[in-house]
Amino acid sequence: MTRGTWTRRTALTAVAAAAVTALAVPAGAQAATATGTAAASTATASTTAVATSTVASASAAAAGDVDYTTWQQDCQAVMNQALPALKQRIAAAKPGEKQAIVFDVDNTTLESDFGFSYPQPANKPVLEVAKYAQDHGVSLFFVTARPGIISGVTDYNLKNVGYKVSGLYVRGFLDLFKDVAVYKTAQRVAIESKGYTIIANIGNSATDLSGGHAETTYKLPDYDGQLS
Ligand SMILES: [Mg+2]
Repeated sequence: MTRGTWTRRTALTAVAAAAVTALAVPAGAQAATATGTAAASTATASTTAVATSTVASASAAAAGDVDYTTWQQDCQAVMNQALPALKQRIAAAKPGEKQAIVFDVDNTTLESDFGFSYPQPANKPVLEVAKYAQDHGVSLFFVTARPGIISGVTDYNLKNVGYKVSGLYVRGFLDLFKDVAVYKTAQRVAIESKGYTIIANIGNSATDLSGGHAETTYKLPDYDGQLS
């Protein structure tokens, strides 16, 4: 299987959004925003215990085009670390605690860049972890940079391949002008404000996982940004 056009479409969308942002915001304001974001990230990092797992082989494969078998092995290696830890954490739920896991969508819960079909297949190692969690009372939330216009098809796709969706967060029009990490962090804050404890945040891009508001993070491979 080879990677499809989804990556290129996403990349073009990102470039277009960045271009519009650059036009809309004066240079001085951009610098101020970037500094503020960095300061906030530093503060969060110092106050939040984040266990990040990565795969050593991920960087080794980064140079070339990633094949499906390698990607699946690398995803499985990360989930092999996640599952036993999450089993312990789920078993140790406090009375009344509402546990949640937050997932990215593209190349995390779905095989977005490998083959191009609809519905897109589930990323099997991640689905296995998700199913354990949902079968043990954990609510699953999906936070994606996908635009709101494809919210319906994304929701259908996730449910069709086996995920129990407690909430799907897509980017509204104004969110397209925000930094992706800032947008995603805000959605986790919104989930927490509903009374959930986010026991894990699972994604394949750094922007899925920075910003805190999760007890642990699990980083799937993106091969230096080759996978959206
Ligand atoms: Mg992704």
